[in-house]
Amino acid sequence: MSDIKGQEIRKPVIFEESRNGRSGAVKGGDSQGLDAAVADIPGRFLRVKKPLLPEVSELQTVRHFTRLSQHNFSVDTHYYPLGSCTMKYNPRVCHTMSMLPEFLERHPLAPQSLGQGVMQCLFELGEYIKEITGTVGVSLTPMAGAQGEFAGVAMIRAYHVDRGDHHRTEMLVPDAAHGTNPATAAMCGLSVREIPTDANGDVDLEALRRALGPQTAGLMLTNPSTLGVFERRVREISDLVHQAGGLLYYDGANLNAITGRVRPGDMGFDAIHVNVHKTFATPHGGGGPGAGPVGVSERLVPYLPVPMVVRTEDGQGYRWRDGADAPRSIGRLSAFAGNIGILLRAYVYVRLLGRDGMRRVSDYSTLNANYLMARLRQGGFQLAYPHRRATHEFIITLKRESEQWGVSALDFAKRLLDYGFYAPTVYFPMLVPECLLIEPTETETKEELDRFADALLAIRKEAETDPDCVKLAPHHVPVPGGGLGRLDDTRAARKPDLIWRRTLEHE
Ligand SMILES: *Cc1c(COP(=O)(O)O)cnc(C)c1O
Repeated sequence: MSDIKGQEIRKPVIFEESRNGRSGAVKGGDSQGLDAAVADIPGRFLRVKKPLLPEVSELQTVRHFTRLSQHNFSVDTHYYPLGSCTMKYNPRVCHTMSMLPEFLERHPLAPQSLGQGVMQCLFELGEYIKEITGTVGVSLTPMAGAQGEFAGVAMIRAYHVDRGDHHRTEMLVPDAAHGTNPATAAMCGLSVREIPTDANGDVDLEALRRALGPQTAGLMLTNPSTLGVFERRVREISDLVHQAGGLLYYDGANLNAITGRVRPGDMGFDAIHVNVHKTFATPHGGGGPGAGPVGVSERLVPYLPVPMVVRTEDGQGYRWRDGADAPRSIGRLSAFAGNIGILLRAYVYVRLLGRDGMRRVSDYSTLNANYLMARLRQGGFQLAYPHRRATHEFIITLKRESEQWGVSALDFAKRLLDYGFYAPTVYFPMLVPECLLIEPTETETKEELDRFADALLAIRKEAETDPDCVKLAPHHVPVPGGGLGRLDDTRAARKPDLIWRRTLEHE
């Protein structure tokens, strides 16, 4: 909230609202049960001083948390064009359906005979993922994209080891890759060799040829890549890797760009993951739960992580496949069957959209990106790959702006907050200097895209005429402890000051 001069009015923090003995809880009820429970705790473990918690009413608590939530940027409140993340709107029905009490209250140890409904949903989701990705086997248990990568590379490794190919210990990873790719390969005990990208954003084929050899375990590729372009020679790449005896891993984080059109399996990939919290309707970000189902080609099916839902032998129902039933599996990656609540959201989403809807996702996510890219180019922004069509995201480079006016990509990102937009991804991928990686997603209207383009163009004008305004931004976003202005990002990351300290006036 701001006063008449646009200054932030400092709201008291919840501790300052605290008054001795004030309480939000309704007294009475089962306090006897509580007293009895406390009586069981040995005296030396009981605290003697009251905890320093705020003593406030229920209404004060509600206002406190509601106000905090309004300070946040989220897809529900703001446009959120964060690249390589697919921050799209998730239909409410996906949440309500997956939170039906029959799903929520099911105990994971309940007998299979009582879980046929949820098992059918999971089984069918697996079938849809196979269809969408062009794979023949699937396991839903990995709990994030990165864990899906781990499953995939562990399967590739198990495949080589099973064949006595013990010397295949090197994973090839393009320099444009997400950091989880080399990290995954290293966690699976493989060494990593980086493959450069050529000037058009494609994998450098000559360098790939030179790198392939009897030591090659495989190649991890994101397509479209994190550079926002589709790798045009992907068939050639997969042939080369296969001929050298390696397998191909597909990072599915950018699947949003190609659903219903192109399938990773048809491009020649042997293992893939799907970030269902990016492509299939789960709020993404803030460290919430996700899921990273993996799909595989024929030769990796025996290694899929357990448990998996399969049909019973009589074809009438479903059962878990686990342990002795999957002797060559890489094993278990999650408690029980993974993040089922997230998988159910994906299931509802796929059912909701159907085959045509899946195709519309990629139609509109790429149309929106290309529209926004064209508007920004017309407004004078420089594209990282001007000769390429955008996929579902694209990169602008602010190298010129930073050289001419001293205004960096970070400054643009901070100023966007003042205009009411969450910032795009900055400084990733690292190949492009002063870059913004912008992903509009398919769920935004043309009007919103225009507002965003107008804001970026207005900031560009400011950068030229009043660079300090941009360099000192944001001016209207409240920061912890009251006040406005830009935080020192190094201190905010390394020495965050998040603690309220009791001072004498509060005694
Ligand atoms: C998000 C992302 C990942 C990691 O996925 P998580 O679900 O966050 O673990 C991997 N690769 C790329 C290209 C990504 O964008």
